[in-house]
Amino acid sequence: MSGRYIPEKLRLAVQERAGERCEYCQSWRRNAIHTFNIDHLLPLDKGGKTELSNLALSCGGCNSAKSNKVTAVDPLTKEEVPVYNPRQHNWNDHFVWSDDFLEVIGLTPIGRASVQLLRLNREGLRNLRRLARMAGEHPPGD
Ligand SMILES: [Zn+2]
Repeated sequence: MSGRYIPEKLRLAVQERAGERCEYCQSWRRNAIHTFNIDHLLPLDKGGKTELSNLALSCGGCNSAKSNKVTAVDPLTKEEVPVYNPRQHNWNDHFVWSDDFLEVIGLTPIGRASVQLLRLNREGLRNLRRLARMAGEHPPGD
């Protein structure tokens, strides 16, 4: 399958696999102000397909920050590395929560580059995390 249209059944499968959270910033779909998107990990314009193994659930903010990028620069080493890919990488290998759980800290070149590219600590996310924490919904347990 190709093209921008994502059939309902596929969309539901992506949402369920993601546990209804953005696969980048981990925010809950049910707490979001903006519509969540289905992200093509390898973008359509780079030959990516509309199939489960190339899709991820993404909040609007992460989705627009990622756009069609597949690499980003690690701010520490200045090395160009792949953007975090939830189908290939384990979130906990590349990221950790700060002590107050309001910020995502990159542990690896991929983690650091993705925190910066996707702006994983933008103000709105910090606000959402603070509220979710009060509601006992953050950090998300797996
Ligand atoms: Zn997000």
